[in-house]
Amino acid sequence: MMQQVKEELKNIPTPLYYYDLPLLRETVDVVKSAADRYGYKVHYAIKANNNPRILSEISSLGLGADCVSGTEIEVAIAQGFQSSEIVFAGVGKTDREIEIALKNNILAFNVESVQEIEVIGEIAQSLDTVANIALRINPNVDAKTHHYITTGLDENKFGIMTHELETCLTLIQNNAHLKLIGLHFHVGSQITDLNVFKRLCVKVNEWNQYFYDKGYTLPILNLGGGLGINYMEPDEESIVNFSNFFYLFHQLLELKQGQEVHFELGRSIVANCGSLVSRVLYIKNGLKKNFAILDAGMTELLRPALYQAFHKIEYWSEETDLESDKVEVERYDVVGPICESSDCFGKEVNLPKLKRGDLIAIRSAGAYGEVMSSRYNLRQPLNYFYKE
Ligand SMILES: *Cc1c(COP(=O)(O)O)cnc(C)c1O
Repeated sequence: MMQQVKEELKNIPTPLYYYDLPLLRETVDVVKSAADRYGYKVHYAIKANNNPRILSEISSLGLGADCVSGTEIEVAIAQGFQSSEIVFAGVGKTDREIEIALKNNILAFNVESVQEIEVIGEIAQSLDTVANIALRINPNVDAKTHHYITTGLDENKFGIMTHELETCLTLIQNNAHLKLIGLHFHVGSQITDLNVFKRLCVKVNEWNQYFYDKGYTLPILNLGGGLGINYMEPDEESIVNFSNFFYLFHQLLELKQGQEVHFELGRSIVANCGSLVSRVLYIKNGLKKNFAILDAGMTELLRPALYQAFHKIEYWSEETDLESDKVEVERYDVVGPICESSDCFGKEVNLPKLKRGDLIAIRSAGAYGEVMSSRYNLRQPLNYFYKE
């Protein structure tokens, strides 16, 4: 495999994003059939990766889209997603973005505040249309993940505070341009402990009952996303166990008649199909450490610098077995070229003794990788390789 990769990448400048499209297709097939088993609908969270090749693959395989900006809605539609399968979340939707969503007749606004409902109502009225509203409820469930990607606690900015729900209901009832169609929840990202989703189900059932008792039959329960992946061993578990994930909801959710369950998965769909590939620029032997300095840095993949995220770092120049006696293994801090100490992909990583020009892959970079890349330091645009 490595020999083939080396050949493929021989003339392509680095840093580059390597996308394994067959793995992406297989992942989408698996998630779709696992969800279909229970009639669940999956919206791909565009913010995880909006590369046009990736989007068109995913839309052509029949998933809906979860958007967090007006431009994401436009891009999703341009890449083949059905507007009737687009949901729109975000605490700070602008008037322009609300108009884009309304003009495209999206499935639902996941609304996050009282004021937002008022504004959507006004804009829908001015466009003489009806906005479908799902109330994003903050369920106060701890995602037990990095605090930057925990979103479902009372102290987070996301979702409607439960003491304001009554006000929301009144506002919606009093405006013919607003239609309440469902409830929305999203508690965080990179959640690997399924107990978090169990606790979410308990809260969802409570809120579902609360609205039912008030006489509302809400057709949509949107449970959000957040399913985590195994960053340690991307090849052993290249596709997450979506069956277990959906089965948990199937077992625990208490649905009312006619209710549809929706999910918004991002990371678990795209993370493992992408790797950031880089070449070694320099090796620097410090007093206590060896540094491998790459031509990729936090400008190409921010997650390690932003949330101390782990990514598996592999030697891609040739097939090597680190366990074998024939391979000389060295320990490196693998760092980027940017003038920030946080620009480090991994500390004390065992790799074959490296030399200038060697290929290094930073695995599981398909989600929140390319999308968070920046031109900081006036870095060059990214390069790409798509495995067909
Ligand atoms: C980011 C986000 C998602 C996707 O989260 P993943 O962890 O990538 O699955 C889903 N819903 C909302 C509202 C989000 O903000």
